[in-house]
Amino acid sequence: MLNKIIEMFSPKSPTQKLIEHEAQFVAKNYHPLPVVLNRGEGCYLWDHEGKKYLDMMSAYSAVSCGHSHPRIVKALTDQVGKLAMCSRAYHTNTLGPFVEKLVQVTGLDEVLPMNTGAEAVETAVKAARQWGYVVKKIPENMAEIIVADGNFHGRTTTIISFSTEPDYRKNFGPFTPGFKSVPFDDLKAIEAAITPNTAAILFEPIQGEAGIKTPHDGFLQGLRKLCDEKNVLLILDEVQSGLGRTGKMFCFQHENVLPDVLILGKALGGGLLPVSAIVGKKAVMELFKPGSHGSTFGGNPLAAAVGLEALKVLEEEGMVQNSAILGAYMQEQLRGINSPLVTGVRGRGLWIGMDFDPARVTARKVCEKLMEKGILSKDTHHTVVRFAPPLTITREQIDWALEQVRAVIRELEGKNG
Ligand SMILES: *Cc1c(COP(=O)(O)O)cnc(C)c1O
Repeated sequence: MLNKIIEMFSPKSPTQKLIEHEAQFVAKNYHPLPVVLNRGEGCYLWDHEGKKYLDMMSAYSAVSCGHSHPRIVKALTDQVGKLAMCSRAYHTNTLGPFVEKLVQVTGLDEVLPMNTGAEAVETAVKAARQWGYVVKKIPENMAEIIVADGNFHGRTTTIISFSTEPDYRKNFGPFTPGFKSVPFDDLKAIEAAITPNTAAILFEPIQGEAGIKTPHDGFLQGLRKLCDEKNVLLILDEVQSGLGRTGKMFCFQHENVLPDVLILGKALGGGLLPVSAIVGKKAVMELFKPGSHGSTFGGNPLAAAVGLEALKVLEEEGMVQNSAILGAYMQEQLRGINSPLVTGVRGRGLWIGMDFDPARVTARKVCEKLMEKGILSKDTHHTVVRFAPPLTITREQIDWALEQVRAVIRELEGKNG
């Protein structure tokens, strides 16, 4: 009753009204922070009331080039006025340059363009099974793919079939068979799980949604060696770790290995569109025949023009080096924060997870406090706050962010005694 009366007399802020309006009509499969954004530029976002924030999230790496990068916006606007969409029933003059660039930056042979990350993962699963039957001669419908505990590869029914996260699976069965999950970063367990029917190992080189979990040095080399010995494909999902996020163009380059199939998405769309692809070795990719796979929007002219420009911008504007240098700097500075609230700092390049002691504070609470101070981040698994700004961020911006992080931690320490 008292609440009702208070509510009647306290006018709602415009932000609150917009949040409530949205909530009236949208499914609640997300729990966003209470901010309403309406503009982005570079590393900054602005909310409906004009407050400015530093983006430390980059839409899970989709905005690695920064918001509305002028060159990528120009590529989009130039193309949209010419030919935006026509399906792959026809050739276009945009697809060739885009896939050539992808082959050049990855060192692999052929590209199959899709739209979202999950679609590219699905494509990789099909590619692996197809190779398993045609080349490795696995008996029909027996192909297995090994994945890692704590994996995140997207949300389709097949992909959640091999998730180990109960929330992602509950009430969504029956599940697709053919997957086996093993502990991440455990080469012995992976080797033990391989059978003559194993077509592929599908791993994230660093587990993003699991909390930016980084395997031991030499892990990717170990994986590559194991796959070669056992005649198993190595598929790396670099939808989030790829395109400069970890301080190299691709995470696998830290260990000088090459996967058989690489899955890309997120940043490939330059922060403007959903663009994804698998890039693979010829022995796998040449098995796709007309009719075996497809996507109405995959490789459309707008996506190809934007994807090509995003790749060029990443290379030409030094974003990958910036990620390496400033990522190391930011990680070192975060490590220097001495607080009983903080239990660890992990990551590679501008992709950092900070662990908080759940007995003292939730990561969500930390994110809410950071938001008040003008930093947008996002918690994962209740205990991890991630810092993954656009790769265009400057040292001054990072120093400012670090000040806010320190201030938030001090305030939370005070409250918790
Ligand atoms: C985000 C993500 C996906 C799924 O991409 P969507 O575009 O959301 O479908 C797949 N794999 C990894 C590693 C991701 O981070």
